[in-house]
Amino acid sequence: MPARRRAAATAALAIAALLAAPAAAVAAPPPGGVTLTLMATTDVHGHVADWDYFRDAPYPAEDALGLARIGTAIDEVRAEQGEESVVVVDNGDALQGTPFTYLYGYGDERDAVLSDAIEHPMAQAFDAIGTDVQVVGNHEYNYGLDLLEAYEGDLDAPLLGANVIDVDTGQPYHQPYEIVERVIDGQTVRVGVLGLVTPGVRVWDRQLVEGELVFQDMVTAAQQWVPEVAQQSDVVVVLAHTGQGTVADASYDAQALPEDVAGNIARMVPGIDVLVAGHSHRDEPQTVVTNVDGEPVLITQPAYWGTSVSEVTLELAPVADGFEVSWADGFAPAVTPHYGSDVAVESQTVLDAIGDEHQAAIDYVNTPVAQSTQALPAATSRYEDTAIIDFINQIQLETVDAGLEGTEWADATVISQASPFSRTAQFPEGQVTIRDIAGLYIYENTLTGVELTGAQLRDYLEFSARYFVQTEVGATFDPATGTNAVTPDRPEGVPDYNYDIVAGVEYVIDVSQPVGSRILGLSHADGTPVTDDETFVMAVNNYRQSGGGAYPHVAAAPVVYDERLEIRQLLIDWASERGTIDPADFFVQSWSLTTDARVDPSQPPVDPTPSEPAPSVPAPSTPAAPGAGDDVAPGAGGQGSLPQTGAEPTWALLAAALALLVGGLLVARRRTTVG
Ligand SMILES: [Zn+2]
Repeated sequence: MPARRRAAATAALAIAALLAAPAAAVAAPPPGGVTLTLMATTDVHGHVADWDYFRDAPYPAEDALGLARIGTAIDEVRAEQGEESVVVVDNGDALQGTPFTYLYGYGDERDAVLSDAIEHPMAQAFDAIGTDVQVVGNHEYNYGLDLLEAYEGDLDAPLLGANVIDVDTGQPYHQPYEIVERVIDGQTVRVGVLGLVTPGVRVWDRQLVEGELVFQDMVTAAQQWVPEVAQQSDVVVVLAHTGQGTVADASYDAQALPEDVAGNIARMVPGIDVLVAGHSHRDEPQTVVTNVDGEPVLITQPAYWGTSVSEVTLELAPVADGFEVSWADGFAPAVTPHYGSDVAVESQTVLDAIGDEHQAAIDYVNTPVAQSTQALPAATSRYEDTAIIDFINQIQLETVDAGLEGTEWADATVISQASPFSRTAQFPEGQVTIRDIAGLYIYENTLTGVELTGAQLRDYLEFSARYFVQTEVGATFDPATGTNAVTPDRPEGVPDYNYDIVAGVEYVIDVSQPVGSRILGLSHADGTPVTDDETFVMAVNNYRQSGGGAYPHVAAAPVVYDERLEIRQLLIDWASERGTIDPADFFVQSWSLTTDARVDPSQPPVDPTPSEPAPSVPAPSTPAAPGAGDDVAPGAGGQGSLPQTGAEPTWALLAAALALLVGGLLVARRRTTVG
């Protein structure tokens, strides 16, 4: 969603302009004081060079980003303010996110990092910038503790994490805090930096941390550590890899280990001067809150992917035992965000540091794997069945099915879930490279298989279908407004990556019905209705299996398959073994949307046994406005129709009508049994 991000950046620039005015007026610290500058980044996610590995090109100028540009901005501030007065911090989620970090975290170069043959390139980049302190983000655990330890060993800066407890020792697994000492204008200033990470890691990377690490509530940990840090420092900074959150302090529940609590930490824990937030990928340069002692606390959240760095100016006034942050008129802390798009050049020092590794990542993603018989775009995957999602599901299904051979689940019906992670992914006609597959499957998920009943599967699909905004009966579905529905737990809308498409069964989603009553005609490929008590094995990625997205049943379901195989690599292997990507090998039209499930029984019956062969693949859909990305115009079809994407065989429509009829009966029956 680059357009949305640009809008946010523009708004932030406007705010920055407002903030810059008073900041410029503060030319000097209070009498006897000094000026301290904090430069903060967060959620860099492997973005060092300003390079989109999936497009094989730099980011557009207005979206320019990356640590190399941030490095230039930091150098400029150091030149203005004096090197000693600038402290550079990073707020976590550095190690995952691009093919660059994949290659060195999970891919072919992982062993070289583990054996110390090379330094992790993200450590090289942060060292080149001169980062003073960093906290772990949740994604730092994605590649296992051995890789994280190797990274930590390579990084010059201390890597913090006070609320991560080593089960063996009962002590923090990472260094809890660091006191950075600086001599500014001949005076010693001590900056205490505490690091905290969202406890969601215990869920998202359960397989890697369970039994090894315990993640404490962040507010509780801050209450424990801030006094100790404050005692030794003039300024207290908390690097909190967590979003700003919406939970009121009065209803804060530490036992629930909430995910996004930056605001709660700042307000509920006295003694903090500046808190750096992150994780939620928002761009909120400056928020001032009042803590329980009535003191102001500054929260800064820089933009993700190295899109911005927050310059936090702190005027320090002398007090008996050192300094304190001044909030007096004309001296209050101020944030100036520096955006990548405003930085003229990338830092050559940073580019030189990671040059070989950057080139290795470019070579890696451009490796050809297969020829595709036609272009397979993902643009419409979130509202219609597409071949490119079936490609994922079919390979997952085959892999789990093969893995169950010789087990008690050998005869189980295997189904598979996948989400439309990217709206811009596509396999071109002709040569397909790793880049194309990595653009489709952007996460480093592994494959598992879980046992579900038919009733649980229905619940699962109903939960997934909450992604759609409810329409009027018979309305024309509009993809621009019909997806990413707002729910109580997702006030910003259910993201695409939490909409699941299940293959191996057939169903229709009636988006004119309320959430919970939308799945119609749930049946096997041969038309047999799915019964509540039958057993399925569902191929599911580890994110979903471990509870990501809060889907019903799946996290508690028995795991019957888990060989820790990485899904993207399975896709690459499958394609390169065959040499050809042909939708005939994997595309099955098995689900669709409707806004009108009513079938008029007075109409002449349709022939349920078409003589035509299995459907050919519909012509790949083309966005109505080329270049408009996912903004596909609503179809011109009749009432209740979806955008027309190609020549669909008439029999498929008739079959769908039949499925609806069956589905309607099923729903009616279910209502009577339930109600
Ligand atoms: Zn995060």
